[in-house]
Amino acid sequence: MTNQIGQLILKPKEDRRIRAGHLWIFSNEIAQVSDVEANGGLVNIYRAEGQFVGRAYYNRNTLIAARLLSRHDDDLDTAFFVKRFRKAKDYRESVMGAMSSGRLIYTEGDLLPGLIVDRYEDWLVVQIFTAGMERLRDFIIEALVEVYTPKGVLLRNDTSYRELEGLASNVETVFGEVPSRIVIEEAGARFMVDPFEGHKTGFYFDQRDTRAAARMIASGRKALDCFSYTGGFAINYALGGAVSVLAVDESETALSLLNENARLNGVENIITTERGNCFEKLRTLNAEGERFDLITLDPPAFVKSKSKLKTAISGYREINMTAMKLLSPGGILVTCSCSMNLTDEAFQSLLRTAARDARRSFRVRNFITQSADHPILQAMPETQYLRCYILEAI
Ligand code: SAH
Repeated sequence: MTNQIGQLILKPKEDRRIRAGHLWIFSNEIAQVSDVEANGGLVNIYRAEGQFVGRAYYNRNTLIAARLLSRHDDDLDTAFFVKRFRKAKDYRESVMGAMSSGRLIYTEGDLLPGLIVDRYEDWLVVQIFTAGMERLRDFIIEALVEVYTPKGVLLRNDTSYRELEGLASNVETVFGEVPSRIVIEEAGARFMVDPFEGHKTGFYFDQRDTRAAARMIASGRKALDCFSYTGGFAINYALGGAVSVLAVDESETALSLLNENARLNGVENIITTERGNCFEKLRTLNAEGERFDLITLDPPAFVKSKSKLKTAISGYREINMTAMKLLSPGGILVTCSCSMNLTDEAFQSLLRTAARDARRSFRVRNFITQSADHPILQAMPETQYLRCYILEAI
């Protein structure tokens, strides 16, 4: 199925970004494509002058028309993925030490565009985002089993992104067995994960470093965790010695797992959950004159595309402004954006406006990005999507 390899010839000079380490080719950069198998077929990429650049998969229906898999003429088979997975494993071991749960493969950051693999103890949860990767699926699963020897592999191919690639949605155990609940541990905190129904693959591993930093500043504080999901921050605040934690999320299932997590960590007396819209809840708390010493804002990506940037920015500005008002003197705001299209500059700028409107001044205690199991490619700013500022009211 994947044996045939087509040719893709770039327009003059359009090889520059790729040669600098980027992995994407946009449709308007292509002079000619020939002999490609349907969507997601493999192509050899050539400069306009004829030199070989690398091997990619191609989709004629998407703006990012090709994503580079290799800069050599490798066969894209099980052995190729085994090699890539071993490299990803070595990298993580060298920066993070042994990792019983976390992200094993982060798409472009591991030079495997369109593939995410998360490890939950002995089980792997996989997401395939693109038609190109979908065609290589059997090699991927075989290689995962070889490198990580899991007890089970679950495909969580139910992301809306797949529609853009013309792919169907499905959730399927493709190797061994996967339990409906898995308990993981992160820096001594325990979390119950639902790999079948949870958001993404079940847990937001990218916030590992922010949660660790947040736990260190929780002692003696009254905390509010907005967009709490299953309690990533709330549990850490409680374990870090917060006197009380209010966790707010719109998802009932997330909050019921959060309550289980509170019991699992013996902090059920510290944490209260409330289902609701955080925009409204922040306004109400403010109107009631409530104050908190520590607040997290970890909303979902409001900027899903560049065209939504303006509305998204005003959403971020509003929740930040209201949260800033809610802080007691010396209070701390942990504020995050996971929108890839919201640049650091734009995020900082909206935080300044929010502070001005809230009539508060802040010191930046810390800036934290996605944890090292979500590696950032220097040549590809798009691989950095998570930004968290820890702001202290002064
Ligand atoms: N901080 C969490 C991850 C947050 S994910 C952790 O460390 O695990 C974002 C969460 O925001 C999701 O649980 C989603 O249900 C919730 N959410 C999205 N929009 C919301 C809204 N308007 N009000 C309340 N919760 C919302």
